[in-house]
Amino acid sequence: MSIPSNSSDQKHVLSKSTYIRGLQCKKSLFLYKNFIQLRDPLSSEQAAIFSRGTNIGLIAQGLFPGGIDARSFGKSRADAIKKTQELINSGQEVIYEAAFQHEQILVYLDILIKKDGKWFAYEVKSSVKVSKTYMNDAALQYFVITQNGLALEEMNILYINKEYQRKGELELERFFLTKEVSDYCKEQTEDIQTKVLDLKEVLKLEAIPEVSIGEHCSSPYPCDFMGYCWKNVPKDSVFNIMGANRSELFLMYNAGIQSIRDIENEEVYNREQRIQIWSYKNKKAFASKKGISDFFDTLTYPLYFLDIEICMPALPEFEGNFPYQHIPYQYSLHCKQSADAELTHLDFLAEGMGNPSPQFLEHFLSNIGEKGSILIFDDSAERRVLNQLVKEMPERKAEMDNVLKRFVDITQVFMKRHYYNPLMKGSLSLKNILPALLPGIDYSQLAISNGITALAAFDKLRNPQADLFETDELRKNLLEYCKMDTYAVAMITEKLREFI
Ligand code: SF4
Repeated sequence: MSIPSNSSDQKHVLSKSTYIRGLQCKKSLFLYKNFIQLRDPLSSEQAAIFSRGTNIGLIAQGLFPGGIDARSFGKSRADAIKKTQELINSGQEVIYEAAFQHEQILVYLDILIKKDGKWFAYEVKSSVKVSKTYMNDAALQYFVITQNGLALEEMNILYINKEYQRKGELELERFFLTKEVSDYCKEQTEDIQTKVLDLKEVLKLEAIPEVSIGEHCSSPYPCDFMGYCWKNVPKDSVFNIMGANRSELFLMYNAGIQSIRDIENEEVYNREQRIQIWSYKNKKAFASKKGISDFFDTLTYPLYFLDIEICMPALPEFEGNFPYQHIPYQYSLHCKQSADAELTHLDFLAEGMGNPSPQFLEHFLSNIGEKGSILIFDDSAERRVLNQLVKEMPERKAEMDNVLKRFVDITQVFMKRHYYNPLMKGSLSLKNILPALLPGIDYSQLAISNGITALAAFDKLRNPQADLFETDELRKNLLEYCKMDTYAVAMITEKLREFI
């Protein structure tokens, strides 16, 4: 594939994000700069991730009030760089989004402040811990800023204090923690210089560099060229083997053992993995009558099928909340009183702008009954949120303990491989198991089809400026989505019963 002739200067500029991209994979950097059209289309889930979420960077500006945003004076990077220099020269002591460029590496720094004649840099992260990736991010910024001639007294990362509990007004000084990373940044200078030179060589290449697929395709970030690089990976590839060591799978794959059907030394795999291999080699589903029967023996009627939707705002919105605390805002509950009874349905979606937890719990406990199994597809989030509610409302502890005791996680059937079907594509997600067991039943007709999009819709519902007609539609879509989740679990349960 030849490089398009309309290559522009922009293609030789490394930003912080393209630098990080290049460190992850040179091929990804080259494709991004030259063949952006090969990038995977943004899924509705990714679009929802980008569209929602609190801008923690903006909130952090409150720690250093009175600043000027260098990016707000023009559209181009040149405008922002020029404005940053003007602000520095004019004695401005707090600058947001300060832009610097050194040897065609462009960085924007969240907050730059001058105190007692010295400059301090702050990069803001919406995470509760500082990862190596963030440190490398900061090191690149430090490198570019200092090479520009601005001496930095400190390079810092501002991140979220997970221990912070809201009491009254939000206290930014307690909500954020600061980690000084100046020494790390200084130590990285030489290494960064080498890496930058290396990546600039990538930008000069005439053809796509040869890079095999590997663990780097998803770490530290999922690559957005997987559709292109992974297009020849067979549907029954070795990557479908659940629980196998990923680096060994890539070694096998790159050595030519690409399909599960090519595997010969099955004895090195555990029982669950051998079931999968058997299933692919024989092109049919595996069902253990005994395993499924044992699972049904644990169930008692009435059977409930439950799904709880949860939001985890970075910024604690309500009194007593912590950052990223799990807050339940919706549930769907199907119920079957006996084996022959009709499926009935109840649901709840929080209204208003207040804390949804109390109204959720009141509604939930009055409908979940006192006996009978509660089937959930992966109950980890439901367990976590109910345990959280126990702490918040200890007066309901006995009722909630009873509910928790009745939880049954239906994914156990699939984790223990009492059932496996090659159509599950090596995944334990409901979206893959449902069509594998019940072709024709899926989420494709729904306006909301995944949890992230549901969260984005819930955010919109709570926007005080939201249009009334739009909120009606959003509520309807959210209720349908959650209902589908529990209907799917009820249908899967019925289908599994057929095997015994
Ligand atoms: S999919 Fe993997 S090999 Fe391809 S560009 Fe991305 S990281 Fe590189």
